Amino acid sequence: MTTITAKINKWNPDPEIISKAAEILNSGGLVAFPTETVYGLGANALDSEAVRKIYLAKGRPSDNPLILHVSSYEQAEDLVFMNDTAKFLIQKFWPAPLTLVLKAKSIIPLTTRGGLDTAAIRMPDNPIALALIEKSKIPIAAPSANLSGRPSPTDFESVFNDMNGKIEMIIDGGETETGIESTVIDVTNPEKILMLRPGGMSREIIEETLNTELKIPDSFSKKRSPGTRYRHYAPNIPVIIWKKNTKFPDVKNFAYMGINDVENVECENKILFDDVKNYAHGLFSGFRKFECEKSSCIIVEWPQDNSGISEGLRDRISRAAEK
Ligand code: AMP
Ligand code: MG
Repeated sequence: MTTITAKINKWNPDPEIISKAAEILNSGGLVAFPTETVYGLGANALDSEAVRKIYLAKGRPSDNPLILHVSSYEQAEDLVFMNDTAKFLIQKFWPAPLTLVLKAKSIIPLTTRGGLDTAAIRMPDNPIALALIEKSKIPIAAPSANLSGRPSPTDFESVFNDMNGKIEMIIDGGETETGIESTVIDVTNPEKILMLRPGGMSREIIEETLNTELKIPDSFSKKRSPGTRYRHYAPNIPVIIWKKNTKFPDVKNFAYMGINDVENVECENKILFDDVKNYAHGLFSGFRKFECEKSSCIIVEWPQDNSGISEGLRDRISRAAEK
């Protein structure tokens, strides 16, 4: 398959490119597009044949459900049974890197929701993504646009490397901002809201807004969020975690990423970040850069502070470092 690629200005998306992409989605094809978190691999969420193509292109296990992307509250209401908590969070935050799991309406095919009776929905904060959803007039199912298990793509080149020849179109909208995926919370029971996956929106801000603690899912709920079961986000060279003030790993020809510089150790392949926000923004592109440069492994600093995006960043780092 020949993959069409089109560069587009995020702040003024070319309507012709958006129309072309919407046409592909409406005829059951796949389009990769930027969101504010990472690039998504989109298909018509209501067309199970189209959704099947996402699982095939990514090599994604078919029991790992997809997030449905919407551009309005009304569109979300057609898909899931809302409750007051979900409504409140949506009014407060959307568009945002916050995904809500709610009871699904039967209009969503089982393929999209991995056979579950719930579905995950989100409104992305990116003008290209929103224009595409509006133009196509359908909810777009979109996991990250990488081969399953690989680091999520945060720029056009990364999507192209994984998806060229496998999908109909890739929209190049530049680098994504957040760099890691959305936070996923289960709000089906407003008395017990579960943190299923930490991500772009911090736990503190959600807890402050709701004036309640987000709970840790029990093993039953975990089973219902299969995405947290698999090894994820990993480059094809080993990732080793280093904590500041501990012994530095004794390896040769390594690459390094972190906030604190490494002292007394020789390293030419190094990316240093100013803070955790920049670290999250650059983590996945750093993984992809270093695997191309043939480093023996990537040593990553464990973010110690507990604020903002740190919880999401630690989750991605620990899963990339899993054997
Ligand atoms: P990705 O699209 O790769 O960012 O992954 C989406 C995440 O949302 C995965 O961790 C999924 O397991 C999770 N997810 C999607 N739908 C549901 C659902 N209905 N219930 C629980 N988790 C879900
Ligand atoms: Mg993913």
